[in-house]
Amino acid sequence: MQRISGSTRLAGVIGWPVDHSLSPTMHNAAYEELGLNWAYVPLGVPDELGLRRVVAAIRTLPFVGFNVTMPYKNHVVELCDEVAMAASMAGAVNTVHCLDGRLIGYNTDGRGLLEALSADASFDPAEKNVVLLGAGGAAGSALVAFILGRAASVTIVNRNIAKAEDLILRIEPHLKSTRASAIGYDAAEGYVASADLVVNATPLGMNPGDPSPVPIEWIDPRTVVFDMVYGQEEPTALIAGALRVGAKAVDGLGMLVNQGATAIDIWNENGPSRAPRDVMRAAAEAELVARTSRRSAVG
Ligand code: NAP
Repeated sequence: MQRISGSTRLAGVIGWPVDHSLSPTMHNAAYEELGLNWAYVPLGVPDELGLRRVVAAIRTLPFVGFNVTMPYKNHVVELCDEVAMAASMAGAVNTVHCLDGRLIGYNTDGRGLLEALSADASFDPAEKNVVLLGAGGAAGSALVAFILGRAASVTIVNRNIAKAEDLILRIEPHLKSTRASAIGYDAAEGYVASADLVVNATPLGMNPGDPSPVPIEWIDPRTVVFDMVYGQEEPTALIAGALRVGAKAVDGLGMLVNQGATAIDIWNENGPSRAPRDVMRAAAEAELVARTSRRSAVG
């Protein structure tokens, strides 16, 4: 257990709701392992006015940094003094570094995704064809990551095609060698079937009984499937179906761990060690198991 002292520095996660966040558990386990006198707390903020007040207060408090989750990743961009390239491309900040009275915004979701793909599926997006399901904030971070990772193409599949087109339009100046296009689900079968990687960036799978965002028959055994959804008691329909057809399938817990670990690496830039991904993952998994047993005890 960490000891809070007069020189403890703070970190935390701003969002609404945040009471189910795994970040406090993961971060505090990492700080203990790294010997950092930091404490990470949930910062539940119900509205935008509250967000502005909390961010203003953070400027005057001994914060090393903070994370931002739904629904404020876009709102925080304009509250930062400086925004790193990937965050500005994605139009979303999930990590803020408090440095000499300034707030520097980053987006570590994309890096978290690439690290998880590499660690959990030995997948490198360079020259690969990617299908991205969804066109919200998480899809935006993923698109930026795949551009920076030099994917050959990213096909965004979304119910609302105009939203996917807007996302591509915003990122177009940074596209480099990656081709990006937007389609609806009715035109997606061929793209999904021939993709090297299919990423679910929709919330489908978060609720028990949710269907897969695409029919499992579309998935080829040589495709890697990555579902950003994490923390469910049972594998999502997409993960279960992909495994059934013999594809490699990975859930979003590794992405969560790696985005958090990358945030610690930013805040602890002069520290001798990287954030311990294994310790953070073990802490998150133990917390999920504890929650399941608490639920069974209540049920
Ligand atoms: P968001 O901004 O609300 O975007 C959601 C997207 O999913 C939209 O494009 C929406 O389509 C689509 N969608 C919603 N319901 C759908 C349905 N029933 N069928 C098909 N498409 C649907 O959400 P987000 O912040 O991007 O988050 C998306 C998911 O990623 C969430 O489950 C979140 O928990 C997860 N996530 C995980 C991590 C991680 O570290 N593992 C990090 C970030 C996010 P329309 O535009 O057509 O409405």
